[in-house]
Amino acid sequence: MDLTYKRQNVYSVADEAEKKRIFDYCEGYKKFLDNGKTERETVTESVKIVEAAGYKKYTLGDKINKGDKLYLNNRGKGLFILRAGTADVAKNGVRILVAHVDSPRLDLKQVPLFEKADIAFLKTHYYGGIKKYHWLTIPLALHGVVVLKDGKKVDIVIGESDEDPVFYITDLLPHLSQEINTKTIAEGFQAENLNLIVGGMPVGGEDKDAVKKGVLNLLNEKYGIVEEDFLSAELEAVPAVKAKDVGLDRAFLASYGHDDRVCAYPEITATLQTETEQTVLTILADKEEIGSEGNTGMQCILIRDILDEIAKSYGVNPAVLRANSMCLSADVTAGYDPAYASAFEEMNVGFVGKGVAMNKFTGARGKSGSNDASAEFIGYLRGVLAKDNVIWQTGELGRVDLGGGGTVAKFIANNNIDTVDMGVPVLSMHSPYELVSKADVYSAHKAFSAFVK
Ligand code: MN
Ligand code: MN
Repeated sequence: MDLTYKRQNVYSVADEAEKKRIFDYCEGYKKFLDNGKTERETVTESVKIVEAAGYKKYTLGDKINKGDKLYLNNRGKGLFILRAGTADVAKNGVRILVAHVDSPRLDLKQVPLFEKADIAFLKTHYYGGIKKYHWLTIPLALHGVVVLKDGKKVDIVIGESDEDPVFYITDLLPHLSQEINTKTIAEGFQAENLNLIVGGMPVGGEDKDAVKKGVLNLLNEKYGIVEEDFLSAELEAVPAVKAKDVGLDRAFLASYGHDDRVCAYPEITATLQTETEQTVLTILADKEEIGSEGNTGMQCILIRDILDEIAKSYGVNPAVLRANSMCLSADVTAGYDPAYASAFEEMNVGFVGKGVAMNKFTGARGKSGSNDASAEFIGYLRGVLAKDNVIWQTGELGRVDLGGGGTVAKFIANNNIDTVDMGVPVLSMHSPYELVSKADVYSAHKAFSAFVK
């Protein structure tokens, strides 16, 4: 009898039929990635998917009936998908899945447009944790909305179709980089230099800001907006790249914004496809990358309101419903990267290809800021995952005291709900083009499906 604990590579134990399921599943995920690059677009795309599956719009305060399939669209940036089950919610609570759909990016400032040396630029303020040099000299697209004074909303996507122009941030040539090369990365790459090139053609007869005026003319012709309208805009620069298979064997999938759509997509498929009597609440949250603040982030009271509405509709005590609920906080973890081996602790980090990773805790400097799930809850989940033959592993973000990070887990757990982090290991996390193993994406789908049963 072998008493040792070993991880398994999903591909090495999968038969041909399972490999085909993994690859087929990721074709759907690729479409999901390419159709939604921002929190707003991902919510819009997810609403399309759940509506096609028969889910109906829910308004807070409406009665919820057993068997209802509902969704609440929170300001176009967050989504709550509810499967009202027939099981006793006083006893079983609600099975909650949470992922976030915002990703690191460059937001436009409110007064962004300027001109220098006959080049027009848009100033940005980065959102979430980025390495600034990643965003230089790559094709960038602009996505978002401009809301006019009369309330009219103008949707903008530029840079995604093959005919579209893209936007661009420059870098200094190596021949002249001797000074920059001796600086620290923090000193060498300044946020205020992350300015998108948007034009270079001066308008004839203008001697001041002639290029900027040309850009404004084009924006006005196409979208009917003027410079002041940037004040009430949310425009986000994201990489103008599509999801692509990586490797000759296509084991991996690269994309912008796997964090955390690689958990959001399996959450949705698990919720829609699993046969279950449980009540399932699946949440796509915004603002995780900046602390889950605000009324579209997971610190917002809305989750509590929805759980209260379920309790009221089912005629049970809301405190009891919460106490018996449980949650998978589905967010990515750092995968082991052999090129940066010293950043990780090899016994506990998640490996790409070895299944979805459960992070008992996150945090920094002695688990600070972490949810740290209980042994009892993890023991229960081990049983659930084993029953469905889900290959999974543990994950720990990196070497102790090297850094750290947090997720939404603690904000769910604060409602007296057992919660643990579980998600797909990612290489090059928070870069413009992140990498995952397709096997782990499908493993997440299987794990979330087992959880909501
Ligand atoms: Mn994340
Ligand atoms: Mn993140």
